[in-house]
Amino acid sequence: MNRNYHAYCAILLAFALILVMCSQFFKKNASFAEASTEKTIYLTFDDGPSDRVTPKILDILKEENVKATFFIVGTSAENRKYLLEREFEEGHTVAVHSYSHKYSEIYSSRESLLKDINKCNEVIKSVTGSYSDIYRFPGGSYGLSDKLISAVKDCGLKYVDWNASTRDAEYYSAPPEILYKSTIDTAKGRDKVVLLAHDSTTKTTTAKALKNIIKYFKSQNYVFKSF
Ligand SMILES: [Zn+2]
Repeated sequence: MNRNYHAYCAILLAFALILVMCSQFFKKNASFAEASTEKTIYLTFDDGPSDRVTPKILDILKEENVKATFFIVGTSAENRKYLLEREFEEGHTVAVHSYSHKYSEIYSSRESLLKDINKCNEVIKSVTGSYSDIYRFPGGSYGLSDKLISAVKDCGLKYVDWNASTRDAEYYSAPPEILYKSTIDTAKGRDKVVLLAHDSTTKTTTAKALKNIIKYFKSQNYVFKSF
């Protein structure tokens, strides 16, 4: 009787263990399936802030309730800290792009690059209270030397390029429809989209195209994220 009781308990215990293992297995696979099917888009705006374009972009992001990442230029931001404040207070990421945005200066050496980044980051800290660890190389990291890329990585910054573009940097003032079409074409087939756009002073049509761009990605069930 006692032996039977012990055997019965052992069987029950083994059965319970198998149940727990199965549930863990299915849970793990379910979350994997969720993660792999989730489509995400990161809206990124370079070269701002500007009085003419940044507030319009912020208004649309607020209306559509999505967050973005602003890669700022220190020389523009220094006199427009109220715009950085607004970006930060409305839940967007304020990240480092450059202080001077002058390629010949910043890419002349590792030291010049880090000096430029730190100067830009001081402007960010004066508004947000902390340094950003997110960085975008002016022009992107494409074609830059390993020496410059490792300089950025060595000081703990994560750099972000893009895989889709409004192509607003390639035109002076492209109609919003062209920017919309470029976005859709370059993002096609991607589950993770990092979209390049600009909020510098000449990019008024970018602000005009933004609402439809956001609506498109919402209709395709993308989740909006910021870095
Ligand atoms: Zn730039």
